Amino acid sequence: VPLGEFELIERYFSRGFPRRDDVVIGVGDDAAIVRVPSDAELVVAVDTLVSGVHFPEGLAPMHVGHRALAVNLSDMAAMGALPCWCTLALTLPAVEERWLEEFARGLRGLALRHSVALIGGDTTRGPLTISVQILGVVPVGAALRRSGARAGDLVFVSGTTGDAAAGLGLIQGTVSALDPEHAASLQQRFLLPAPRVELGLALRAIASAAIDVSDGLHADLGKMLQASGAGAQVHVDRLPISRALMESQGVARARRLALGGGDDYELCFTVPASRVRAAEHAAGIAACEICQIGTVEAEPGVRYLDGGRPVVAEMAGYDHFAR
Ligand code: ADP
Ligand code: MG
Repeated sequence: VPLGEFELIERYFSRGFPRRDDVVIGVGDDAAIVRVPSDAELVVAVDTLVSGVHFPEGLAPMHVGHRALAVNLSDMAAMGALPCWCTLALTLPAVEERWLEEFARGLRGLALRHSVALIGGDTTRGPLTISVQILGVVPVGAALRRSGARAGDLVFVSGTTGDAAAGLGLIQGTVSALDPEHAASLQQRFLLPAPRVELGLALRAIASAAIDVSDGLHADLGKMLQASGAGAQVHVDRLPISRALMESQGVARARRLALGGGDDYELCFTVPASRVRAAEHAAGIAACEICQIGTVEAEPGVRYLDGGRPVVAEMAGYDHFAR
C-alpha cells in the first residue's frame, strides 16, 4: 500500500525537527503561524533544486536534503540574518520510503544544527524538485546587503574556495586527484556544504557589504560590486586555496576553480579599513578563517593582480542556463 500524503508528511516531516517556542502553528493546518519579535525584520529567501540541474541525478538523498537547506541558510548568512523557520515544497516522481527517510535525515541534521523549525510545505508528484523557503530575523536596519561596498574597503572571503567545484568534478569524473584523502576532502566540500551562518551574524555592523559564494567567487564578487556601484582589485596570489585543492590540481587550475567554480557557500564581504580588526575578531567568534584578497575601487569591474602585476582572468562563473 503506497504511503498517503498525510502519512508521508507525518512520518518524515513532523517528527525529529527542532521545536521552537515562537511557532504558534506548524505542520498540520492550512498555513503556519510564527511569532516575529516586534523589533525585528523578517528576512525571506527560497531556493529550488532541480535534479540533474542543481545536483547530479545520482546524489545520495541524504546529501540532497542537506543541500536543500544549506543553500538557503547560506542566503541568511549573507544577510546577517538568524534563520528560524523553513517550509519545504517537495515534488517527487514516486513515493520511495527509503529515499524519503534519507532525505529527511539530511534536512533534519542541518535544521537541528541551526535550530530551524520545519513549519510547513507542500508535497506533489512530478520530476524530482526540492524547494526550501527560509525565514529569518534581523534587528531593524541591521541586515547586510550587497550594495554597501565603498572605495577603500577591503575585500574578504571566508574559508577556501574552489574545493566544491573540484569535488563535483571528481564525482562526475572530469577532475582527478592522486591522493585519496585530498579527493575525499574535496568531495565532502561539495556533498556537505557548511553555510557560514555564525560568521554572517558576527559581521553585522562590521561588513559594509556581503554576498554568499554560490556561483563562483568571480561572479558573486562581481554581483556585489555591481550592486555597490564599485569595482575592485583582487590578488590571485592571495586567494584562499586549500592544501587538498592546491596539491591535487596545481596552482593554475586551483586558482581557476577558486575564482570560477561554484557551490562554495562561503561569504565574500567588504570591510572598511577601520573595521578590519573587528572583522578578524568576528571571524574568531565564528571559528572561521577569513582572508583579505583585495581592495574596493571606484572604477567598476574586477582587476586581477599576480605578484602585484595585472593579469587577465577569463572567468565564466557559473551560469545555470549555460550548463
Ligand atoms: P492544503 O491542501 O491545505 O494545502 P496539504 O495537505 O498540502 O494542505 O498539507 C497539510 C499540512 O502539511 C500543511 O500544514 C502543510 O504545510 C504540511 N506539509 C505538506 N507537505 C509538507 C512537506 N513536504 N513538508 C512539511 N510540511 C508539509
Ligand atoms: Mg498544500
